Amino acid sequence: QAKMAGRDTFRVFDSSMQTEVTRRLELKYDLRRAIELDQLFLVYQPIIATRTGRVEGVEALIRWNHPRHGLISPTDFIPIAEESGMILEIGAWVLDIALDRFTSLNREMSLDDDFYVSVNLSVGQLIDSNLAIRVHDALVRHKVEGRSLCIELTESMVMENLDNSFAILLALKELGVRLAIDDFGSGYSSLAYLTKFPVDKLKIDKSFIDSMVSLDSPDARLIGSIVAMAKSLGMSTIAEGVETLIQAQRIFQLGCDSIQGFYLSRPVEAADLHLTIGDLERASNLFFAFDV
Ligand code: C2E
Ligand code: MG
Ligand code: MG
Ligand code: MG
Repeated sequence: QAKMAGRDTFRVFDSSMQTEVTRRLELKYDLRRAIELDQLFLVYQPIIATRTGRVEGVEALIRWNHPRHGLISPTDFIPIAEESGMILEIGAWVLDIALDRFTSLNREMSLDDDFYVSVNLSVGQLIDSNLAIRVHDALVRHKVEGRSLCIELTESMVMENLDNSFAILLALKELGVRLAIDDFGSGYSSLAYLTKFPVDKLKIDKSFIDSMVSLDSPDARLIGSIVAMAKSLGMSTIAEGVETLIQAQRIFQLGCDSIQGFYLSRPVEAADLHLTIGDLERASNLFFAFDV
């Protein structure tokens, strides 16, 4: 009877859901060998300081080149990595490759003294009590200073694990690592944690940038308020997902410290990073020659 029910339950999935379930299982299975088969790689998106036009850092973003499904987005496979416990291994891999890339970039071109590479943290990594030790070891192995690394976490990740994350974030801060709140404003709306956690940067969520129809629209005012709040707490702000010149100009006028988005550069492959940074900095006086 139970067996029958089991079978019947299975049949309630329609064929597209069935395909989705099968695909997830398949991806979960394949992800186990993705690192050793060299299918994962990082792309890097420049972050530009609005006042100087300099590339202040780059964000590392993971990609999976699957032999049958092609390029798979992290929004599709990071959750699978979380569920299956592979996130720690993948997270360590990301850190390793990003720091390696940072050192070689630093050799190839003269980077500003406070240039950083930013990596995204996943919730499974934030609850790992060895996180700070792992990060410390990676920094030492690559001979990279803590301040050359920025770690991005989301508000909800922090809020879900308040007790653990506080200690872990403090330990990361002690290494000199910078901390950024990713997608700021899109999740949990408690602001109380901002005064308690050692946060350096707020990355203002793309949704605010998208809905900023004019400089005095409610969303623009909100961005202005976030910038002011961040400043008074000693944090800097990055606008995420800036796609147009108009948006870049408004963000600049609202006093946001930095810009990241397709308008300036899409994420690029490691081999192109050097040239991309050079091109961007040569062009940045055009971007920021705004009449304010
Ligand atoms: P995120 O950290 O908020 O990264 C920004 C995302 O916005 C990236 O998508 C980037 O390609 C995209 N983006 C940047 N500028 C623009 C723009 O102007 N317009 C639009 N439409 N999109 C823009 P991506 O690379 O697909 O990554 C998605 C998310 O996956 C990331 O969001 C991050 O949460 C997660 N992720 C990426 N790499 C890693 C990783 O190495 N580890 C972990 N745990 N998560 C990662
Ligand atoms: Mg991010
Ligand atoms: Mg983001
Ligand atoms: Mg995001």
